[in-house]
Amino acid sequence: MRLRNVPGARETIAEHPMAVNHPENLKGKWNQEFGNQNPIHIEIGMGKGQFLVQMATENPKINYIGIEKYSSVLIRALEKCEQLELKNLRFIRMEAEHICDVFQKDEVDRIYLNFSDPWPKDRHAKRRLTSKQFFDRYDAILKHTGIVEFKTDNDLLFTFSLEQVSEAGWNIVSQTWDLHQDKELVKGNVMTEYESRFSERGNPIHKLVAQR
Ligand code: SAH
Repeated sequence: MRLRNVPGARETIAEHPMAVNHPENLKGKWNQEFGNQNPIHIEIGMGKGQFLVQMATENPKINYIGIEKYSSVLIRALEKCEQLELKNLRFIRMEAEHICDVFQKDEVDRIYLNFSDPWPKDRHAKRRLTSKQFFDRYDAILKHTGIVEFKTDNDLLFTFSLEQVSEAGWNIVSQTWDLHQDKELVKGNVMTEYESRFSERGNPIHKLVAQR
């Protein structure tokens, strides 16, 4: 994600009703925040929010939460929501490694990871959102039947992720190295911003779904 400083982004986020400023206060209480018992799906590293805004529009009976570490990027998601009145969507500006401070055991039904940063250096492997360390965090917040869905065009990151799923003791429910050519798995696929960009360049999109 190309970063520009956006003046006033932090202030806008602090005042915006769809941005949650102290998410740790809602740990175990997200249903109260949404005012219903609907399932909660989160996207970690949601960027400018294209995928989540579409998902929330199409699925009003699911509550969505987008997590993004940069204010300058998250503000673009807030702008997309203007005039949409999506009651089932919230955003959090935070670093994903603190996710267990924000969600209680069994509170989350699904985790989306779309085009996560590859962190190509070996010594940074633990920072990848599909590392065993992150799967252990997902284990602590995800319902027993919950799933993690991951999409990327990065071959090395995808291979690493497949290995880490087993390393963490999870199972691969489905996988493909070319999602857009896979008649079954592409059904209902909602494109992310990066997915549109990379597939236009001719890169095949890889996807895996993991469960415990
Ligand atoms: N999911 C979007 C954006 C992909 S770019 C899409 O598919 O179009 C990856 C995004 O994840 C960037 O915006 C980056 O800032 C964010 N990100 C990366 N690591 C993160 C972390 N540890 N915590 C929170 N956000 C993170």
